[in-house]
Amino acid sequence: MTKVRVRYAPSPTGHLHIGNARTALFNYLFAKHYEGDFILRIEDTDLERNVVGGEESQLKYLGWLGITPDESPVNPNPKYSPYRQMERLELYQKYAHQLIELGHAYKCYCTEEELDEDYEAQKQSGVVATQYNRKCLLHRSQDELASLEAANTPYTIRVRVPENEVYIFQDMIRGEVSFESKDIGDWVLIKANGIPTYNFAVVIDDHTMDITHVFRGEEHLSNTPKQIMIYRMLGWGYPLFGHMTLIVNEQRKKLSKRDNSILQFMSQYEELGYLPQAMFNFMSLLGWSPIGEEEIFTHEELVKQFSEERLSKSPSMFDPQKLKWINNRYIKAMSYEEFKALVLPFLEKAQDLSSKSELWIDTLIHLYHDQCSYGQEIVELTSMFFETQTVLENEEAQEVYKLDTTYEVAKAFVANRPSVWTIESVKETINKVKETTGLKGKPLFMGLRVVASGKVHGPDLASTLYLIGEERVIFACNAR
Ligand code: GLU
Repeated sequence: MTKVRVRYAPSPTGHLHIGNARTALFNYLFAKHYEGDFILRIEDTDLERNVVGGEESQLKYLGWLGITPDESPVNPNPKYSPYRQMERLELYQKYAHQLIELGHAYKCYCTEEELDEDYEAQKQSGVVATQYNRKCLLHRSQDELASLEAANTPYTIRVRVPENEVYIFQDMIRGEVSFESKDIGDWVLIKANGIPTYNFAVVIDDHTMDITHVFRGEEHLSNTPKQIMIYRMLGWGYPLFGHMTLIVNEQRKKLSKRDNSILQFMSQYEELGYLPQAMFNFMSLLGWSPIGEEEIFTHEELVKQFSEERLSKSPSMFDPQKLKWINNRYIKAMSYEEFKALVLPFLEKAQDLSSKSELWIDTLIHLYHDQCSYGQEIVELTSMFFETQTVLENEEAQEVYKLDTTYEVAKAFVANRPSVWTIESVKETINKVKETTGLKGKPLFMGLRVVASGKVHGPDLASTLYLIGEERVIFACNAR
């Protein structure tokens, strides 16, 4: 079997988006599953949309996810270089002119205005899918063409779409797909500025880079016949195509980069303290399903398990709750030191820790290791320990606060207050409160918790009181 070579071909228009990241991931998993190569190619021909640093950002966030391209602009294989389309312009010119010589393409001198006028006229006469009117192919004399050429008139190169041709291919995900050439107008291969269009450049690149399989978003399905057309004209075989399902939001709408309800860029997840391994795992389930119920897989397990046969063609919903759940599973599996390294920077940024002891900080962080879903969440989870006043959180807390038993446990706590304030000594005091009042269970524990923290539920009581601190707890108990 020839070596599998797949590519991820982003335009450097910004940070790595969830849809692109998923495309990269599936190409990568496929390549690694079959011990092939994963290539990063930069499709930078849309000059207006390129952003400075876009390519670096793509590489950076692929790296963050643990996806290292075997070949890329910064790690080129001389056999296939260069890896940026704007550095391959000569190659596209060469093949476009070859197509002209073969009679499959021609120069078109029509101006934008002429084209617009004609498309408008077609629309007026009821044509919905307007096509180029082939003026430069059929309705200009040889003399006229020669004088346009002699005057160095700018031109595009258009492909002469064959008549009555059918493009049938076996999509790896969708099965048989077919398109007819009559639905495709003579499209532009090379624009007047010498830059190729996507559909032309992608063929030249995939062929000359020996790409064997292409996994890409389903929005490219209708581009595929245009690409197959060029492969046929140049007498080349073509890769196997697989068009992946859409990613939709909870309202079943296609994710749009403008939709603010879902964070869509890897950079945003990194900033919030999501783990790249969890992101990798989560995205692998966006349009692919493993065998069996288990959904937590390491990088290596996913490479091993991945199969193009289990890619889905129905839309895949991006569920932020599921991402949180998966991320929490990875956090729980971390050592305490790893967890601390993840969350401490978020706490340091949000709170003033200068007066807190190392023991206090460790107790706090430890308390939320199992519950925390992502780094930044630690700030919200622990906020009550940084407040200076205790506020009753809701009606239930107010009810509990008013109980006589709550009064009793609060007074008993003060009467038995520890001489040094540690988790152990607080625990002993709680035991003494239990003995002296004869109260236990909810009246004891919930009563003390509500008085000290204002909350009805929370983590381990002794740790909670210890963290709230002696001064605030005793003050609150006295105040009841
Ligand atoms: N630059 C194209 C995109 O980002 C690549 C499409 C393809 O994989 O052929 O959508």
